[in-house]
Amino acid sequence: MGTAPAQTIEPLPQQLSDALEPPADAPGLGRRMVVVGAGPAGTVTAMLLAKRGYTVEVFERRGWPSRALAATLHSYILALTPRGLEPIVETGADPECCSASRAPRSVGMFDMNSGRSLRMPPGRKHIVDRVTLASDLIDEALRLHGNRITFHFDRQLQGIDLERQIATFADPGNSSLQLEASYDLLIGTDGASSTVRDILQDKVPGFRVRTLFQASMCYKTFHGLPVDDYPAPSATNDESSSAHAQSAVPSEVALIGTHNCREFTYNWRSPKSDVMVSMWKAEDGRMHGLLAAHDDLAEAEQERRLAAATPKLPAEWRRQIAAQTGSQGQLPSSFGKIVRCSQFHGPRVVVIGDASHSVTSTLGQGCVTALESCSALAATFAACGDDLDRVPAAFTRARAPDAHAVQDLELMQVHAMVPGLSAWRLPAILYARTVKALALLASLVFYKIGLLPSSVYLYSAFFAGVLPVRAIKRNLHLLAAAGAGLLTLFVWYLLLS
Ligand SMILES: Cc1cc2nc3c(=O)[nH]c(=O)nc-3n(C[C@H](O)[C@H](O)[C@H](O)COP(=O)(O)OP(=O)(O)OC[C@H]3O[C@@H](n4cnc5c(N)ncnc54)[C@H](O)[C@@H]3O)c2cc1C
Repeated sequence: MGTAPAQTIEPLPQQLSDALEPPADAPGLGRRMVVVGAGPAGTVTAMLLAKRGYTVEVFERRGWPSRALAATLHSYILALTPRGLEPIVETGADPECCSASRAPRSVGMFDMNSGRSLRMPPGRKHIVDRVTLASDLIDEALRLHGNRITFHFDRQLQGIDLERQIATFADPGNSSLQLEASYDLLIGTDGASSTVRDILQDKVPGFRVRTLFQASMCYKTFHGLPVDDYPAPSATNDESSSAHAQSAVPSEVALIGTHNCREFTYNWRSPKSDVMVSMWKAEDGRMHGLLAAHDDLAEAEQERRLAAATPKLPAEWRRQIAAQTGSQGQLPSSFGKIVRCSQFHGPRVVVIGDASHSVTSTLGQGCVTALESCSALAATFAACGDDLDRVPAAFTRARAPDAHAVQDLELMQVHAMVPGLSAWRLPAILYARTVKALALLASLVFYKIGLLPSSVYLYSAFFAGVLPVRAIKRNLHLLAAAGAGLLTLFVWYLLLS
């Protein structure tokens, strides 16, 4: 409990450690940052600020997120694409799970119902799980900046005195254990249900928050499904039982057995998309993943539902998933909230990551966008000459257009993909599907006549981060307009001929 426990972190070679030591006139020297939340955005922000010489205190309401805990009930998978990896590179850190030289690369995903693989656009990608990512980043933060960054675990934000610049934290298990931390700037990276955001909404005129979409599904995680050791059917008197067992390994399990760990994610959806199972193969050769559904069923019902909704999911896996995700065990976690803030700051306070621009997991952009925000914050410090009175508002001006554009694209994808028709969603669904179809039409035509390098150019540019997201959004609408023009010409031609 409390500050980070002692642990074995390899010391830095002297040369690298000297290179990381900020110069004597570093702008942040002698100034104290408080970061709320030790998720990916919190730790990457802490590292980028430590590089500028700031002393950073990170407060996290949960315990130390060790790698060992990743194989427990709380972690889930996420895909890091080049847009999200670049800010990590900028910190100088080399976290094991997404190291350019050591971590396995990811290729894409498999739709296990159709057996089709969807390869993601070129560029470095890693499938990581949330707890391992957080843990590896913290290890790197301590290795590189152990003298400037301090982590306090089991410390939950209770309140902020904006005038006196003091934040109060408590031990979630014992709220009488309170701790005050003064700050020169407070950075809220406390996730989609942010307390910092709630406090700003309460106390700062003009700070408005709107929930644009709330998914009705919840998820639970499961771990350790067998692949190479998939159990043979119960023993028979058959002499050739071992050959029989070999051939009885379901083809899905056999296929995954041929892949490297973290190479693909594997998705099983029910036809109505009301149950979804997503998993990946970890270094231990076993499958870990999550089950998303609208309701929480007991083990036996869960297994029956999986058998009916995802019949291609191998029987042994269905059994183990049901045992781990039945309602008697872990509590379901909600996900899939698009929350929009009118601004990302208050007086000497900044909110970044899911705290200021959460999305659903439909486009898989939440973490990537959160990490981009860390990089944008560091750039804002540089642009403002580390004037902490100017940084907060300048950050909103610099970051909101792109972060809101990600949310707009996400919302479009949600309405195009997520089932559930209602009167309020109908216009949004029609709009999203029309824009996507027209843009696809124009992309195909422009690719054929050599005006675009690929028919999925925008999609690739989005993942690779070669264009700002607001430009992607604008170009999508330009392509849709061009598609509408091409369609009109075609209809006109048909009518005239
Ligand atoms: C099922 C699922 C799949 C996803 N897939 C992808 C994907 O493929 N690609 C992608 O880019 N993103 C994905 N995401 C989104 C991604 O996980 C988040 O966007 C990302 O974790 C956001 O990082 P963050 O640091 O801003 O917030 P978080 O990761 O939520 O971290 C916030 C931290 O703050 C702590 N905290 C909260 N309140 C307090 C408090 N009061 N006091 C102190 N600490 C507090 C929390 O314990 C937590 O550690 C997925 C999300 C889910 C749920």
